[in-house]
Amino acid sequence: AKQDGRGVFRFFEPELDAAARRRRQVELDLRDAIRLGHFELHYQPVLDLKNNRVGALEALLRWRHPERGLVLPSDFIGIAEDSGLIIAIGEWVLHEACREARRWPAHVRVAVNVSPLQFRNSGFPAIVMQALAASGLPPERLEIEITESVFLEGEEAVVALLHRLRSMGIRIALDDFGTGYSSLSYLRGFPFDKIKIDRSFVTDVARDAGSAAIVRAIVHLAKALGMDITAEGVEDAAQLSRLRGEGCDNIQGYLFSRPVSSSEVDALIGTRMED
Ligand code: C2E
Ligand code: CA
Ligand code: CA
Ligand code: CA
Repeated sequence: AKQDGRGVFRFFEPELDAAARRRRQVELDLRDAIRLGHFELHYQPVLDLKNNRVGALEALLRWRHPERGLVLPSDFIGIAEDSGLIIAIGEWVLHEACREARRWPAHVRVAVNVSPLQFRNSGFPAIVMQALAASGLPPERLEIEITESVFLEGEEAVVALLHRLRSMGIRIALDDFGTGYSSLSYLRGFPFDKIKIDRSFVTDVARDAGSAAIVRAIVHLAKALGMDITAEGVEDAAQLSRLRGEGCDNIQGYLFSRPVSSSEVDALIGTRMED
């Protein structure tokens, strides 16, 4: 808003263009969605290649919009982050994911995505503990996925918090590995339990020697550091066989299953992948 000479606030200045108005509207809609409970979690299985069974499910946020239908995170996570609403939304995600995972078989973990802003918020460890206590989910069954952008502001505080969560029994995964600026230094600074190789390397792993070499190097590096490896975005059998050959521990992607609603999870957990 801009103040004109008579002290009147005029909201629709030309410079407040259509894109900005749209973002503002999404932000208002998001506030309603939090209040009205219009979010839901879908779950995508992570397959353990040792036994071809589901070892974990990643919780993926969906917005059940009254007019727009099911809205994907790419359409609102950025706005939720910029407006700070991601902290309230992320708290709901943690509670809901732990609550739903509590009734899955005990060997199946749940993976939750946490935004940098949410992670660095001072209340975060308490919120995690509340979500575990309220649901009764053992901490060993919770995985937190962060991206390396969490390190951009103050690496030491982040590493301390990671150690604290780890000491509670929670596993920590480094998501979208390979897409950031200086991945290797973060691996030296903190021993992640798991690295997720970004889909961009997986897509071409069976066709392009460069992608295959990068995947091989990441797998070797992770093994040497004692970390588990998941390949994201696995869509076909050629990718799978190459990833198996490289010694990848887990795969996730449309080949085995798309993300499903919570009511479909039980059937999925009982399914094994055919060789
Ligand atoms: P991500 O954490 O890297 O999640 C993987 C994304 O890849 C998901 O998109 C998933 O549906 C998609 N995907 C899985 N397998 C395949 C495949 O084989 N092919 C292709 N093309 N895509 C595949 P989705 O659900 O739209 O989520 C997008 C991003 O939104 C996530 O990327 C994550 O960064 C963010 N996100 C999702 N849920 C949450 C949440 O609860 N909190 C926060 N902070 N971020 C979230
Ligand atoms: Ca993720
Ligand atoms: Ca990812
Ligand atoms: Ca991503």
